[in-house]
Amino acid sequence: MTRKRTLQRWNTEDAAELYGIRNWGAGYFDVAETGDVVIRPFGNKNSVGVSIPQVIEGMRQRGLDMPVLLRVENILDSQISLLHKSFRKAITSLGYNGEYRGVFPIKVNQQQQVIETIAKFGSRYHHGLEVGSKAELFAAMSQLRDKEACLICNGYKDEEFIDLGLFITRMGYKCFFVVEMPRELDLIIQRAKHMGVRPYIGMRAKLASKANGHWTDSGGDRSTFGLTATQIVDAVDTLREKDMLDCFRLLHYHLGSQVSNIRDIRKAVMEASRMYAGLVKEGATMGYLDLGGGLAVDYDGSRTNYISSRNYSLDEYCSDVVEAVMATLDESGAPHPHIITESGRATVAYYSLLLFNVLDVSRIESGDEKDLPEVAEDAPEATRNMLQALQGMTLRNLQESYNDAIYYRDEIRQQFLHGKVSLRERTVADRIFWTMIKRIAQEKTRAPHPPKDLAEIDLALADIYYGNFSVFQSLPDSWAIGQMFPVMPVHRLDECPTRQAILSDITCDSDGRIQTFIAPHGVKNTLDVHPLKEGEEYYLAVFLVGAYQETLGDLHNLLGDTNVVSIRVNEDGTYEFVREIPGDSVADVLSYVEYDPRRIVEDLRKLAENAVQEGHITPTERFALMQAFEDGMRGYTYYER
Ligand SMILES: *Cc1c(COP(=O)(O)O)cnc(C)c1O
Repeated sequence: MTRKRTLQRWNTEDAAELYGIRNWGAGYFDVAETGDVVIRPFGNKNSVGVSIPQVIEGMRQRGLDMPVLLRVENILDSQISLLHKSFRKAITSLGYNGEYRGVFPIKVNQQQQVIETIAKFGSRYHHGLEVGSKAELFAAMSQLRDKEACLICNGYKDEEFIDLGLFITRMGYKCFFVVEMPRELDLIIQRAKHMGVRPYIGMRAKLASKANGHWTDSGGDRSTFGLTATQIVDAVDTLREKDMLDCFRLLHYHLGSQVSNIRDIRKAVMEASRMYAGLVKEGATMGYLDLGGGLAVDYDGSRTNYISSRNYSLDEYCSDVVEAVMATLDESGAPHPHIITESGRATVAYYSLLLFNVLDVSRIESGDEKDLPEVAEDAPEATRNMLQALQGMTLRNLQESYNDAIYYRDEIRQQFLHGKVSLRERTVADRIFWTMIKRIAQEKTRAPHPPKDLAEIDLALADIYYGNFSVFQSLPDSWAIGQMFPVMPVHRLDECPTRQAILSDITCDSDGRIQTFIAPHGVKNTLDVHPLKEGEEYYLAVFLVGAYQETLGDLHNLLGDTNVVSIRVNEDGTYEFVREIPGDSVADVLSYVEYDPRRIVEDLRKLAENAVQEGHITPTERFALMQAFEDGMRGYTYYER
């Protein structure tokens, strides 16, 4: 049911519907009657809510500038719990004999604070970690506490990597080496013999099953990593020969990330389970089946198999997976393995949101009928024709009028290039042009079948809202692969948003934009926003940015890491700022690209001293100047008010 949106009757329920917050928010975000977006960290409708504008106010009082990446610790806690509870529910209700073991893949968000928080909240479920490189292994090793939790080592491993893992194994931790390439196995066998350790060995299978999506090249026959069925059987022979078949404990695969169709998930689980059963028959010890990542996030809230969504719930995922493993293994009489998943995206996406203020707005100002300019008798012919087209416009000839407008505008521009039309004459034509476009945009909403071509008009007429953030730094997937994230204002939602806008960041790069937004029935190119108020900040948030966005970001225009603030909400709705990490300073980002900030200041000092010598400034002015330089170097890389 869609409500009729009118200025008088607008209320916060309309806002919730317009932005789809209850579809993509997973119960964690909602619109309150005050018009504020609230965080409901305990994930249900009637639990306490924390107003985002109030959190922003708290940050401002503490001197933290926008943009800020806000992390809500409780949401991470809740997501880990949900994953384990859903699997437990499926395991109990189906009578499955194995257990569930989750691991968090470090690459999805490597920040120390995130890994520490996951280790803390995950400890009651033996939640482990997955690593793909030596550096990630060190990060994981710093969190080792639980001997029941799994440490999964994927990625191509050299001798040093393997030795580190063997030390961990010797200390009594469950460290699995997942063989990605046939040659790795020899090195593992050799190092294990040398160190006298019985390793836990896993094999990554290349499945024939595939999924569709941006990130799913990891699955299927052509995936870069993993062993074919033949190579796995060869590995079994090698291990048997070396008397190490008992070390073969785990079968792994990874279909790719954001697998939006449950059918693809089920097919892959079935194929892997068959393979697992075959390995048990071959005499391998086994015991663990690792399904990798892929559990998707419903970014657009549509609950479909669209790329930014998923057509299944967490409960369905868990019960489908457990059921498929069970059915396949029962058929072959093999015991049920422990099931591991490496869910990264679904674990952390909800936990972070990017907050920023709007710095400025660019609007197409002309085009109101009342400021239609006088057209002189001797005005260029194209201008007069355009005016005539405007006067002759009806509901029936919208497309034709649009074509005329474009045609005559182009003609005027041509003549301007050749010096036949003056600057002022061009402006007159431009104003008539925008009046026509605005009128067409209005009229087409009344036309029963508006021509399809005219859809682009709305985008051409949209305001540009300039946000204090960098798409390249904070939303790299939005820029690189067109990933959609939910975006909306976080306050004033009791007012009808009367403007349509696209969002530009402050890099002034034409790619530094967001122009795909979630609409009630699909996507659209503009965002509904409120007009700015004089002397008042306007805040927007990009939600669900906890996965993959933090370290993929780059230093385009030398805009650095944003401030990061973590809050923890108590049962009664009060909250604490548990951690603040200041973003990069100007000096920080300069040093990343190999400048020496001290030398820059030194050079500036010389410049200033010369200016004193030449009498341009006084020594006291030099002092003030140097202070300004030094403050600037220590300052935030974003726009500071
Ligand atoms: C990236 C990756 C994951 C994480 O996938 P998500 O879809 O984020 O859960 C898990 N396992 C492996 C091997 C990966 O490469």
